[in-house]
Amino acid sequence: MATTADKKSQNVQQEGQPGTMGGNHSADVIIIGGGPAGIAAAIWCTDLGLRPLLLEQSSELGGQLLQTFNTITNYPGLPAADGGEMLEKFLASLDGRQAEIRLRSRAARVFAEGLSVELATGETLAAKALIVATGVRRRRLGITGEGRFAGHGILFSGVRDRELAEGKRVAIVGGGDSALENALIFREIASSVCLIHRRNTFRGRREFTEAVIADAEITKYLEYGVSRIIGEDCLESLELQNLKTGEFITIGVDCMLIRIGVVPNTDIFRGVVDMDAPGYITVNSNQETSAPGIFAIGDTASLISPSLSTAVGTAGTAAKAAYLFING
Ligand code: NAP
Repeated sequence: MATTADKKSQNVQQEGQPGTMGGNHSADVIIIGGGPAGIAAAIWCTDLGLRPLLLEQSSELGGQLLQTFNTITNYPGLPAADGGEMLEKFLASLDGRQAEIRLRSRAARVFAEGLSVELATGETLAAKALIVATGVRRRRLGITGEGRFAGHGILFSGVRDRELAEGKRVAIVGGGDSALENALIFREIASSVCLIHRRNTFRGRREFTEAVIADAEITKYLEYGVSRIIGEDCLESLELQNLKTGEFITIGVDCMLIRIGVVPNTDIFRGVVDMDAPGYITVNSNQETSAPGIFAIGDTASLISPSLSTAVGTAGTAAKAAYLFING
C-alpha cells in the first residue's frame, strides 16, 4: 500500500530498488532521517537549488510526528489536531519538489572523509554535504518485563491509550514534563494514579509541578526506582526500591507509562563528529559539526529544546550553511 510519503512525492524509492547514486555526487546533500527536521531540510535544500537525497530507515516519513497524538498548538501559524495532521501539511510542502526520498534505507556507517554514507545493505552513497536529522528515541528503564508487557499493561501514549486506562490503576515513571503532564491527564480517568520518580524534586515546568504536588489524589513515590515489572499475561504489579534505604515494596497496578526522557539516535556518528556525554551532536550557530560538510539539526543537536520549531529552524540554517559550504 502506498504510504503518505509515496502519495506526496514523485521521487520515493524503496530499499532494494536501483538507486541513482553510487559513491559519487549525484545528490548535493544527503539528509539522514525523515522526521520533521529532515523533511524541512529537504524543502530548504530544493529552495536553494541543491539536490537533496533524504534517507529514512522506516517505511514512511514523519519520525516523531507519527507518534504524536496530542494537539499541536505552539507551532506558529499552523495548529494541528495531532502529529498525523501536521505531517500531512509538511508533506504537502515537500510535494512537487526535486527531492529524492529513499525509504527503508538505514544508514549504518558515516564517513567524514568523502562525506559518504554506507547503508545497511552495503551500498555507499556520497554527496557534497551531509545533514544529520536522526532525532531521538524514548529512553528505556532497561529492566525485566519492559519489552514483554509493552502493549499488555505498559502504555505507549497517554493521549492515544487514554481509554485503556479508564477506571484502572495507573503508574507513571519519571519526573519531567512528560511524566507530570500524563499524571494530570490520567488523574481524570484512572481509578488511581501514582508517580514514581528517582529524586525528591521534579524537573518539569512549574505549571505541571505545582499541579501534581498539590494533587493529593496522585500518590508520589519519590526517591524510588522500579526494579521489576510483574505479571502473568498482563501487568499486575511493580516492585519498587527505595533508593535511600534500599528497601523493596510491591504496588498493584494495571497500567504503566514510562516517561524518563529520550536518547539521541547518534550512535553511528560517534567518532565521526564531536558530541556531548549523552550523545547530542555539538554544533555551532550554523549547525556545523566538528567535521567539515556535516551538519546536525533538530533533536540530535538540541538537548534543551526538542521541538518542531527547533527542528524546522535548524533545518533552514543547515541548508543555507550547506549551500555556502558547497559553493565556497
Ligand atoms: P526529561 O525532561 O528529560 O525528564 C526525564 C525524567 O526522567 C527526569 O525526571 C529524570 O530524572 C527521569 N529519568 C531519566 N532517566 C531515568 C532512569 N533511567 N530511571 C528513572 N528515571 C529516569 O524528559 P521528558 O519528560 O520525557 O520530556 C522530554 C522533552 O519533551 C523535554 O524537553 C520536555 O520539556 C518536553 N515535553 C514538553 C511537553 C509540553 O510542552 N507539554 C510535554 C512533555 C514533554 P532526573 O530528574 O533525576 O534526571
